[in-house]
Amino acid sequence: MTTTANYVGKVAADAHATAPLDFDLFYGGDSRTSGGERRMTISNPATGAVIGSVPDATEADVRAATRAAQDAVDRGDWTEADALDRGRILNQLADALADRISYYASLESAVTGRPIREMQAQMARLPEWFRYFAGIARGLEGGVAPFKGAYLSYTQHQPYGVVALITPWNHPLLIMVKKLSAALAAGNCVVVKPSDLAPISALDFAAMATEAGLPAGVLNVVTGTGEGAGAALCRAPEVARIDLTGGTETGRRVGAIAADRIVPVTLELGGKAPVLIFDGTPLEEAVNAAAFAAFVATGQTCISGTRFLVAAPLYDDFVAAFAAKARSIRLGHPADPETDMGPLIARRQTKRVLDYIDIGLQDGARLVAGGGQPDVSPPLSNENFVEPTVFADVTPEMRIFQEEIFGPVACVTPFADEAAAIRLANATSFGLGASVWTRDVGQAHRVAKALKSGIVWINDHHKNDPAAVWGGFGASGHGKENGWQALQDYLRTQSVVVRLSEEFPDWYGASGPRRYG
Ligand code: NDP
Repeated sequence: MTTTANYVGKVAADAHATAPLDFDLFYGGDSRTSGGERRMTISNPATGAVIGSVPDATEADVRAATRAAQDAVDRGDWTEADALDRGRILNQLADALADRISYYASLESAVTGRPIREMQAQMARLPEWFRYFAGIARGLEGGVAPFKGAYLSYTQHQPYGVVALITPWNHPLLIMVKKLSAALAAGNCVVVKPSDLAPISALDFAAMATEAGLPAGVLNVVTGTGEGAGAALCRAPEVARIDLTGGTETGRRVGAIAADRIVPVTLELGGKAPVLIFDGTPLEEAVNAAAFAAFVATGQTCISGTRFLVAAPLYDDFVAAFAAKARSIRLGHPADPETDMGPLIARRQTKRVLDYIDIGLQDGARLVAGGGQPDVSPPLSNENFVEPTVFADVTPEMRIFQEEIFGPVACVTPFADEAAAIRLANATSFGLGASVWTRDVGQAHRVAKALKSGIVWINDHHKNDPAAVWGGFGASGHGKENGWQALQDYLRTQSVVVRLSEEFPDWYGASGPRRYG
């Protein structure tokens, strides 16, 4: 491998064909060599080709990054800047990102194995997040509270200072951008710890953002493992707030550190999204919806449709048509625009998915599509490819109904009536996304309200917008991304109370107030 600093566009335009590169950490406005020796190799999950390597940051590296962020906070050129000025730079960043959609789509596709068609569509939306938060931050107002007596009481918002963003591998840039845009617009300085499976785009993005005008130290990236660099980041004394997207177990660990340190934490965790298909939904629409919900990102998204709850009169036709649709999905090279579905991210994830398929069979679910690994030809390696898989007759007691698989495995379950559909939908510990498919407007809203789910789509799935709040209930976490609430969550509210009277009474003097109140 050749050693190179991070800078924009270093990875070849076709990242699937890039020569391997060694990346450094990025903090204080520049790339930095790790003080440690260990490096982590990043491979293309479709072919096994090495894309590059990143440092496994030591605790000292992490502290250097958090101190660089704290220095930026203390300098005040971002934290204390007018929202208008911060917004101008965030819009420059959005422009720079918009110019590099194809580049980042190719990079994300190579690192995650997701089809280029999906990544182009996802990357094209990212600039909107910076533009949205740049806009609303300008409109953020404090409040004036009624206060007994001759006092003025008002509130004002302040950034936390240094915040830690810990992100997963399935949508590396999207999830970072969702968090980053709100955190930066609020005036914070950030240290990101991306997943060890997909860290390159975060490093590249930080370098690009610095070129686009973000002051040094405002966006810093440390790479490494969760248990190492991730936990060290959560423990760093400079970090005043933590925002994690990851699995529910990771959420417990990060939440425990946050509780111990008494810093606020947002936890965007796992899911087991139900898709409720009521009678009257046209079969073709139901099947296309199911395939879209279940198999985008090879089923590796927290809001993937995983439990298809289908009205009894539709059930048999739906199962047959959904199985046929799953079999028609084209697996292939992620760089090929004709490819519908790519591989899973890595061997450990592939094993997990194949193990769950075995568990489904052992528990008595009926396999109607997929279930194995397809034959693929070089340069693809079949190590991480799994066929789109559909199980019918799945019951709530089965583990495949209850547990997050995070792969292309869909479970189908019949229901008798609306009450039964709601009971089934709410029968797991998760509560992130859900979709309701019905032509009955009253039923749509009634069911949405009854679902224990942070996000409900009606007659759609997967939809995401910077203005629409995003976050889970129950084991899916707490706190929100997107919308006003995300911006406010990145700010702490200070209450200021001002005495208006000219005289301050002597509480202990002879003429002082003797009564409280
Ligand atoms: P993980 O929970 O394994 O990891 C998420 C991030 O946390 C990674 O950067 C990881 O580092 C880090 N991490 C792991 N352990 C610790 C720790 N003890 N302290 C600090 N950081 C730690 O999730 P995956 O990357 O496997 O992503 C898949 C999960 O993310 C799924 O459960 C999915 O549902 C969830 N997710 C939730 C979303 C939402 O919006 N609610 C959206 C997308 C995904 P590393 O992996 O490098 O070790």
